[in-house]
Amino acid sequence: MLQGGGYIATGPRTYMATVDHAASLVIGRKARFDPAPNLSIPTVYFNFATYDTLNRRIKDARLLTDYIGRVKANYLQSTSTGKRLRKTLLQDEMKKEVEITLWPEMRHLIGDDVIPGHIVAITSTMVTEHNGRLQLESTYLTTIFINPDMPQMIDHINRLRALPAMEPTGTNEQIATLQDLKLSSQQNIQSSRNFICKAKIKQIHENRGWYYGLCSKCSNKLYPQQENDKLNFVCKDDDNIIPNFRYCVNATIEDTTGSADTVFFNESMQAILNISCGDMVTKHAETTNPKIVPQLIRSITDTTRLLNLTLKPDGQIVVNNVRDVPSTTETQSTSTVPGTSAFTPTTPVPKPAISKRPITETLGTDKKMKRT
Ligand SMILES: [Zn+2]
Repeated sequence: MLQGGGYIATGPRTYMATVDHAASLVIGRKARFDPAPNLSIPTVYFNFATYDTLNRRIKDARLLTDYIGRVKANYLQSTSTGKRLRKTLLQDEMKKEVEITLWPEMRHLIGDDVIPGHIVAITSTMVTEHNGRLQLESTYLTTIFINPDMPQMIDHINRLRALPAMEPTGTNEQIATLQDLKLSSQQNIQSSRNFICKAKIKQIHENRGWYYGLCSKCSNKLYPQQENDKLNFVCKDDDNIIPNFRYCVNATIEDTTGSADTVFFNESMQAILNISCGDMVTKHAETTNPKIVPQLIRSITDTTRLLNLTLKPDGQIVVNNVRDVPSTTETQSTSTVPGTSAFTPTTPVPKPAISKRPITETLGTDKKMKRT
């Protein structure tokens, strides 16, 4: 590649952190550089690792790793020490998953605009293990290319694009089934766990009530007191208060793997209805009786949503947030076979017919610098 002469070629250097390479050039005073105007040399060199080689790279901190894959998830995560990390889950050409961790100083290399399906090429990472999953950590040498189109990696890009499309969830997390939740609740873990499920709101349990009031002065729960035909919310300590109404709707949800009893608290109901609980009580409810569910709330039954769920140690399932299912996936279902996990998308949709060049099945073409 280098046009010139007078240099010495030696074996690869291993005493400093570097990407795997075949040889090093020793440039001494005798070395000579000549312009090479007609040579098209890529400005970036990649030597993408394959998944199978990552394990042995864990032990060699000096060997830096380039990787390319398709984004499956992308989000910010806080550490216990308050650091904000960028986590990006990549799926490679063999559909193996590797997690990228960008430390705060490199976090900006991937933004929130990077969504599932985008292709990411990352250079000069360190392979480590985190929660039983292989992880690529950024180093100060790391660079990242989002949806790259460099000729030297076109084969990788084509193979990634030829993978079956992932089910877009509109979220950065994977969809669990209600059976996953049930199995998880049987594990007797003493901490809350979060899940996202695509489930149908099957039945609202009216007799459990649909709202309550908090005191505007002390924030304690108010006592509903029937006075003539009017329901008053009374604080045991304070007078002249304004009730702060909050949703609390008990409902059974179901998907193809089972059903679960859940509680929709204020944020999740407001996300579905776009009406505050106060407005619902004062403007939309047919009656203030908490055990008679307004028609507007009843109308959400038999609708399918993406639900952010928290499974509490006591087995209670709380719905924290609710989003609409992206319209393109409305007719698709998650795992339909009991006993299988929907953590792997099961409904392939047609392959995108994007192919700038014929796909060649030659592996390792990135090692040869293409001069096209
Ligand atoms: Zn009070």
